[in-house]
Amino acid sequence: MHPLNDLNAQSFLRVSEQSDFPIQNIPFGVFIRPDGVIVCGTRIGETAIDLNALQQLGHFKDLDLPDGLFAQESLNDFIALGRPIWRAVRSCIADLFVQGSAYAQGEPHRKEVEFDLSNVEVILPVIIGDYTDFYASREHATNVGSMFRDPENALLPNWLHLPVGYHGRSSTIFESGFPVIRPNGQRKAPSDATPTFGPSQKVDFELEMAFITGQGPEAGQAIPVEDAEAYIFGLTLLNDWSARDIQQWEYVPLGPFLAKNFATSISPWIVTLDALTPFKADRPSQLDPLPLPYLQQEPTGANLDVRLEVVIAPKGHAETTVARSNFKHMYWSMAQQLAHHTINGCLINAGDAMGSGTISGPDKGSYGSMLEITWNGTEPITMADGSSRSFIEDGDTVTMRGYCEKDGLRIGFGEVSATLYPAREWKQSSITKN
Ligand code: CA
Repeated sequence: MHPLNDLNAQSFLRVSEQSDFPIQNIPFGVFIRPDGVIVCGTRIGETAIDLNALQQLGHFKDLDLPDGLFAQESLNDFIALGRPIWRAVRSCIADLFVQGSAYAQGEPHRKEVEFDLSNVEVILPVIIGDYTDFYASREHATNVGSMFRDPENALLPNWLHLPVGYHGRSSTIFESGFPVIRPNGQRKAPSDATPTFGPSQKVDFELEMAFITGQGPEAGQAIPVEDAEAYIFGLTLLNDWSARDIQQWEYVPLGPFLAKNFATSISPWIVTLDALTPFKADRPSQLDPLPLPYLQQEPTGANLDVRLEVVIAPKGHAETTVARSNFKHMYWSMAQQLAHHTINGCLINAGDAMGSGTISGPDKGSYGSMLEITWNGTEPITMADGSSRSFIEDGDTVTMRGYCEKDGLRIGFGEVSATLYPAREWKQSSITKN
């Protein structure tokens, strides 16, 4: 049996029992080697593997890949080659790194391929041309609608008929570890007569996953829901940092803007949809109302069972778990999101990112934002160090982790983690104004 499909397959590289990255995972990423060279790579256990070195040593010669495909600062060109190539490369890597392989026994240049993760810097894996963020968790949309509008009519009339989304901003999507700075902006509570300017007082996280797309068909052509998964390269964890006071004032009528685009953090290893296939889960049924035909999809296996958690560590203190959720709760599946996104002919490029929207589960412990956990700050939570939190404080590190587990096989995403730093001081310009 091929190691990617064999639950018992093991790599000769050390992989701890609780690792998210056994030989059955083979995610893709980009890292800076100890000598400063940037390459595309994969990861097994705590070892980063240089795919460019493997290609130069001739290990991909049967795949007829373009020269220098992995000697790049992003995976975009590789992703653009499409699913048959993604599969062939993963399969080849697993064959090389399985116990007893010819590579393990005979490759004299392993030192040029394998690096201890602690000696490399893992960076943003794709140049994200376009970023779309959906709003696909019924529980999250219901909670937010209850808080800001009307508990009796929490979902707006369109919500059960289409996957609501908006076009985000890709310029401020950062890899895990990149610092996040508290944004300045206009804030106005409903009770205030006029807005004020200053640092957001309600910085929040949103627990999300993102899928990275392959190259879509030409502009004008829709991706049918039943074909959509072939256009999904893989997934990451995503923290959609949000400033709730800025959001509440600015979002009508066109939706989120500056409350969202100051920072978005993603986990750096893209786990392929193929690696996640054993963990398919059923999507909630959509019978009332039935979606329009172009969105109809069998609920069986339409979602993924990814166990998620969010922890907050105040500066110098231990972390406190504030949420445990699961990606399987999503009302609209990734395939439905992609089918909807392209039904008007919108072009999807290799390396686009699509956020799921906040992943909230049915109960309080599974809410995916502080907005919901503390009910807009009215029910603060107590941290392990005795302090309380309504939203995120300066110096807090927010970390999200996610993994799938079944029949002894664990495939995970590692983590996305970032620390919030104080707002920048804003100075009035000395230029005379009219
Ligand atoms: Ca979001």
